Amino acid sequence: MDLVAGGATDVGMVRSANQDSWLVADRLWAVADGMGGHLGGEVASQVTIEVLRDHFDDYTAESFLAAAQEANRAVHERATGNADLRGMGTTLCALALVDTDDGAQALSILNVGDSRCYRWRDGEMTQLTRDHSLVEDMRAAGQITDAEAAVHPHRNIVTRALGIQPEVKIDTFAAVPVAGDRYVLCSDGLFNEVTVDRIAATLRRLADPQEAASELIRQANESGGRDNVTCVVVDVLDATGAATSVDDAGEVAARGAGGTNRPPDLAGITTAQPVVVAPDADEPPPPERRSGPASDEPKPRLRRATWRTFLFAVGLLAILAAAAAAVGWYARGSYFVGLDQGEVTIFKGRPQAVLWFEPTVENRTGIAEAQTPAHLRDALADGHQQPTLDESRAYVNRMRSMICAELENGAVWPPLEPGAPTTTVPASCADVAPAPGTAPTTTTPRGSSTGPPTPTTAPPTPTTS
Ligand code: MG
Repeated sequence: MDLVAGGATDVGMVRSANQDSWLVADRLWAVADGMGGHLGGEVASQVTIEVLRDHFDDYTAESFLAAAQEANRAVHERATGNADLRGMGTTLCALALVDTDDGAQALSILNVGDSRCYRWRDGEMTQLTRDHSLVEDMRAAGQITDAEAAVHPHRNIVTRALGIQPEVKIDTFAAVPVAGDRYVLCSDGLFNEVTVDRIAATLRRLADPQEAASELIRQANESGGRDNVTCVVVDVLDATGAATSVDDAGEVAARGAGGTNRPPDLAGITTAQPVVVAPDADEPPPPERRSGPASDEPKPRLRRATWRTFLFAVGLLAILAAAAAAVGWYARGSYFVGLDQGEVTIFKGRPQAVLWFEPTVENRTGIAEAQTPAHLRDALADGHQQPTLDESRAYVNRMRSMICAELENGAVWPPLEPGAPTTTVPASCADVAPAPGTAPTTTTPRGSSTGPPTPTTAPPTPTTS
């Protein structure tokens, strides 16, 4: 039986220091995620990896577990002996190929904290370890769903860690090495950013363990990289020592005479449930929040996709606002002289309303439609456009002059309403050339809505020349 592995780590996209440590060694692979203090997390994870490596010397499950316990003591002693490191701790998720009493080989897995070990087999991912975290306890108790656990704001609180107390409970698992299986050890910086399905798809696609590990790190950073991220991929080779391969269909097949070998799990040991080997009297340390340097805490931030959506929405709103302003400027930027309820009126706007911009009355003139020169009435009916209010008033004054001139020439204006007395006076000729005794005689109220102006006094005697 042979195993090959690749590993990678990255500080991530937010934090300034990497407190994760990892190990790829002869028959031993591990990931540790440190926590606490300015330097504590980094020291705790490094010490753990070093002690584990140095004490795993006879390739047995017992020495593997003993090495992890020794790592716990080493971290605890460093923490209690140095004020700067007080309270530091680390997770540990480790895999080893160990010799069994009957001369066979087995895989042994140790776990403390919330780093994880997954097994990928035939495209399916199985989480072998159980997190020692507040959120996992809540999920196991049925208080929250899997989906809620995945995004819970307190999912970084661990309930057990190496180095917090002199002794620690360590979950152990055993597995039979099966050719084609791939094991993934990772810190929470991976599975909090990359879904298990995507991890599985990446393992299906990339046969080389180093390539797969590096690609998973890249995906974690692409998804936000809000924590240090570490990943070790361990591949089990077949009985002949030949490498596994990924065929075109993406399925893993073992090469060599033996083909895939799927012995049952080791007798008496289930790989589905953890076996706790530490004394039950040891209570796990109280829940603690990972406490890296204050400046190192990830700050809540919008994902890049959300930022793009926000900026797109802002840009779209700006364009719509500019378009509305342009339409408003066009629709409201001119005047016209038209008719309103039979009265010549100056309007602000366009004769034909533009979108929701209706023309509004700017000035009433007191000139009835019936008093206007016949050749102007069509234009008034359509609305005679003028660029400015002053020019609109000038247009009305010219019309008034024409009316007054005709009056002076003896014009007699038709009655404004059937049966009304004939009038000779338009609204007012006072500003034009009022003839003696021909003062304005109509009193149409400005803005009246009762119809065309109606004479209220007897028409004056027509002036003759
Ligand atoms: Mg972490």
